[in-house]
Amino acid sequence: MIVLDKLYDVIIIGGGPAGLSAAMYAGRARLSTLLIEKDAYGGQIVITSEIENYPGGMGHESGADLIKRMVAQVDRFGADKVTDTIIDVDLESDTKIVKGQKGEYRGKTVIIATGAQPRPIGCPGERELISKGVSYCATCDANFFEDFEVFVVGGGDSAVEEAIYLAKFARKVTIIHRRDALRAAKSIQERAFANPKIDYMWDSVVVELKGDGILTSMVVQNVKTNETREIFADEEDGTFGVFVFVGFLPNSKVFEGKVAMQDNYIIADENMHTNVHGVYVAGDIRIKKLRQVVTAAADGAIAAIEAEKFLEEG
Ligand code: NAP
Repeated sequence: MIVLDKLYDVIIIGGGPAGLSAAMYAGRARLSTLLIEKDAYGGQIVITSEIENYPGGMGHESGADLIKRMVAQVDRFGADKVTDTIIDVDLESDTKIVKGQKGEYRGKTVIIATGAQPRPIGCPGERELISKGVSYCATCDANFFEDFEVFVVGGGDSAVEEAIYLAKFARKVTIIHRRDALRAAKSIQERAFANPKIDYMWDSVVVELKGDGILTSMVVQNVKTNETREIFADEEDGTFGVFVFVGFLPNSKVFEGKVAMQDNYIIADENMHTNVHGVYVAGDIRIKKLRQVVTAAADGAIAAIEAEKFLEEG
């Protein structure tokens, strides 16, 4: 295992908008900064087809493009970056130890920005049919369903926005929602309701996904009547798409017992302080009401500046 000798001022775990913002602010404050990301930068936002509400955005910019600009900005301010999956942390001492699969990293402060990942429906057949009809990313998979029928599960901002995006490709998009009213912002709802390709299946949940190697049918239950019905792929198509947007699960397992949490989200005050000295949290992983790129970026900035203050005060 590689052991990096360097004692960083700040170690940031997670390279989504919160972590990237923290890395930019920490680098700009001339703190020695290490940004650790397990995979690709950007977190959930890279699977978003269009960001229309990030301040200063010109519209029609994808999540991936916004992230490219953020990473370039982090590079400009000189943070070190490493790709590694964190498997354990020791946050109690003055020197915090962050253990990855590839190496062990040491920092005087730590900013946790590990975000969240898509929540599955959790029904039989779902896992087996991922990438065989079941998807959690419209930007990634919409083009596979050009002229096919697709179903979107969920009723929040993600579900409705991605349904609008999918309607550019699919022949028909049906939103399956467990209630009879969408949760999505009114402006997003208006766009969906105005789209003739989008239909709705209210008060309904998907209880089973079926197919041998490819999705061919699904069982949907009406939660009011308990009636179930099986929906089959059009004979000519042979399959259809099910895009799942039913919220997110926080990536907090590695921090269990290390920082205070509630329902697997990390508790922090308005200055991003956790209950552990020198450990901060930013973005979707913390308890908060509004999970947006702009709030993640704001959290990251606050966390980095708080880390700087902590280091100055000794
Ligand atoms: P969300 O707001 O948590 O919505 C999840 C949706 O899935 C809800 O409609 C919920 O139904 C439904 N749901 C949850 N569990 C389910 C289950 N087991 N079976 C069926 N349906 C289920 O998640 P999100 O839409 O991914 O958004 C997450 C956060 O990102 C939100 O804060 C959102 O505002 C933000 N976001 C913002 C934008 C934007 O501003 N452009 C875009 C995307 C996301 P109920 O409504 O009945 O609870």
